[in-house]
Amino acid sequence: MSLSSYVPERAMVIVAHPDDIEFGSAGTVAAWVKGGAEVCYVLCTSGDVGIAEAGMTKAQAAAIREVEQTAAAAAVGVNDVVYLREPDGMLENSIDLRRKLVREIRRFRPEAVICMDPTVMWVGDGYINHPDHRAAGTAAVDAIFPAAGQPNLFEELATEGLRAHKPRKVFVTSFRQGEVAVDITDTIDLKLSALRKHESQMKGWDPEPRVREWNSMAAAGTGAAYAERFRVVTLESDEDWAKRKGDVAKG
Ligand SMILES: [Zn+2]
Repeated sequence: MSLSSYVPERAMVIVAHPDDIEFGSAGTVAAWVKGGAEVCYVLCTSGDVGIAEAGMTKAQAAAIREVEQTAAAAAVGVNDVVYLREPDGMLENSIDLRRKLVREIRRFRPEAVICMDPTVMWVGDGYINHPDHRAAGTAAVDAIFPAAGQPNLFEELATEGLRAHKPRKVFVTSFRQGEVAVDITDTIDLKLSALRKHESQMKGWDPEPRVREWNSMAAAGTGAAYAERFRVVTLESDEDWAKRKGDVAKG
């Protein structure tokens, strides 16, 4: 288990639903923003079936949840939030979704992307990973590599002024698994305040005891009090990245 001190210059987080980032990676996002990173969120759905109240329509729920998600992003210093508005509960890893994610990657040009783990099906003995989480994870991974970096794939995006871009690190969230831990001791309070912005999901439930328990378990053996864990895939080394940036600067 290693404690990561890495801070990207620009990072994108791609998830299925409002509140997925706050449960999974908002402590890391807050730490990266404090370290100077620019961060963008991409929400595949707006959680439109996630408010089970009599008379609540999908359109009303989506509107409520986008307001909550935008506030949760702002709580950790993120002001660029993209809503793709795919149907909640029916998210598909389609070529169309891959194109939309490639568009956002080519627009924002992140060095690192945080996404969900598409391989997680079972979580302990008491939870089945949501199909939208699996679809969002697969679509994100497939957009990151190799699609976003291939100029002749989704080449129609060039008409929007978007050029191919290769993110170089992928941080995959797998609940409490993963060999890289990010210390969120200094940002767990920000994570909790972001999570509490999702009032429609909390319904009086206080997330603090569970979140502290989960993130303290994730920190076991690292020396940190609280951590979030990831599988980290490095597609381009620090050396090659520095060289590529130098080449871009030289024009
Ligand atoms: Zn979710």
